[in-house]
Amino acid sequence: MLNFTLKQLAADLTARRVSSIEVTQYFLKRINALGKTYNAFISVDEGQSLAAARAADQLIAAGKAGPLTGIPLAHKDIFCTKGWLTTCGSKILSNFVAPYDAHVIERCHQAGAVIAGKTNMDEFAMGSSSETSFYGPVRNPWDTAAVPGGSSGGSAAAVAARLVPAATGTDTGGSIRQPAALSGICGLKPTYGVVSRYGMIAFASSLDQGGPFAKTAEDLALMLNVMAGFDARDSTSLEREPEDYARNLAKSVTGLRIGLPSEFFADGVAPDVAKAVDGAIAEFKQLGCETVEVRLPNMRLSVPVYYVLAPAEASSNLSRFDGVRYGYRAPQYSDLLDMYCKTRAQGFGAEVKRRILIGTYVLSHGYYDAYYIKAQKLRRLIAQDFVAAFRKCDVIMGPTSPTTAFNIGEKAGDPVQMYLSDIYTIAVNLAGLPGMSIPCGFGNKNHPVGLQLIGNYFGEAKMLNVAHQYQQATDWHMRMPEGIRTEW
Ligand code: GLN
Repeated sequence: MLNFTLKQLAADLTARRVSSIEVTQYFLKRINALGKTYNAFISVDEGQSLAAARAADQLIAAGKAGPLTGIPLAHKDIFCTKGWLTTCGSKILSNFVAPYDAHVIERCHQAGAVIAGKTNMDEFAMGSSSETSFYGPVRNPWDTAAVPGGSSGGSAAAVAARLVPAATGTDTGGSIRQPAALSGICGLKPTYGVVSRYGMIAFASSLDQGGPFAKTAEDLALMLNVMAGFDARDSTSLEREPEDYARNLAKSVTGLRIGLPSEFFADGVAPDVAKAVDGAIAEFKQLGCETVEVRLPNMRLSVPVYYVLAPAEASSNLSRFDGVRYGYRAPQYSDLLDMYCKTRAQGFGAEVKRRILIGTYVLSHGYYDAYYIKAQKLRRLIAQDFVAAFRKCDVIMGPTSPTTAFNIGEKAGDPVQMYLSDIYTIAVNLAGLPGMSIPCGFGNKNHPVGLQLIGNYFGEAKMLNVAHQYQQATDWHMRMPEGIRTEW
């Protein structure tokens, strides 16, 4: 079962070769034995998981199983999950048990999936290494001295170490794609508005989007089929005909035009990453694809634009954590203002405070036009670059991250270096486009390299088709970290 895809597990479950109880117990055993090694989970609740597995077995017995029925999934601890601790990696929510389910959790529940646990993450999803969590850093299953990427690093590490067959994450500036790349698995960020943000603790609402992690493109499609869908409780949720994201998987990619932005292949990318990405593009040419050069001239502005807009939105979103309504409250204070100040001073970590300060600054009277409005204008130009590029190609490719996994502590003291890890992913969020990362080889130190695919709006099915065809021809995606225990 260790390296089974969702598809294989579903086949065994529906044929009743194995029960959901057995599958769930198997993965819980791995989580209990190895979860601590990678610090991938914040909470595990065997009682709730097994109860859900029992219910799933009944659905299967009644012939009502869907593709995810009975399968244990891990959820990033940013998704409110009824009856589960939901911390967002922060001390300020360290005692918060969600009273309701996020839309994504509800959808997974309706599909009969089992919750295997809630995964560790950068505090409020702010980070690229999963080191800013109140619960300590997550470790990369390929090399425990290295980070798994972030902010959804717990989910990525859990899938990479085969503690769960698939997981959910969120991506505001790269937090699904970059950890997928650094942890050697697949991850997809949908078009903005495809997955509801209801119950997904807000970081930067105009950029946040939930999405899946799995071992294969085909499994991502199965996950997205469940996660996506209109939800009236999120005002930016898109009301569209439901689509089957797996419908195009088998299509040939002959004649597909791959756009290669020169900006993605310039000096910033490490040679070992460039080599693996070049190898992947060569493979696509073998499969009959054409390559065309495209330009994204404003992409170089995406990191500075993001670090104005995302903190601005965060400073507003995080004002709700005040010690009054829920979460942590400072134990001693003199009056209401002092309670707010002490609660927030004690409850938030350094990176979150930095973002709140930057965001408050760029939104303040006198700086708003110079920073916030300017950044909004540049955001539009960045999006227009992609519109122009997609006139010449069907899908854009490049590296997901400029380097492979770096060591824990290596960039923790230098926020700008950390922010630059998302140089190839952030523009996609600013434009609202779908993007994904798939394993395409290994770099120095045998750390995995991710290939990024960027689709046009609602191009998820096409991206998944392209990735699936690559995975039919290669086996990078099925490789497992050597150090993980596999005896059960
Ligand atoms: N690393 C980026 C940040 O720190 C993106 C995080 C994310 O996508 N949630 O904001």
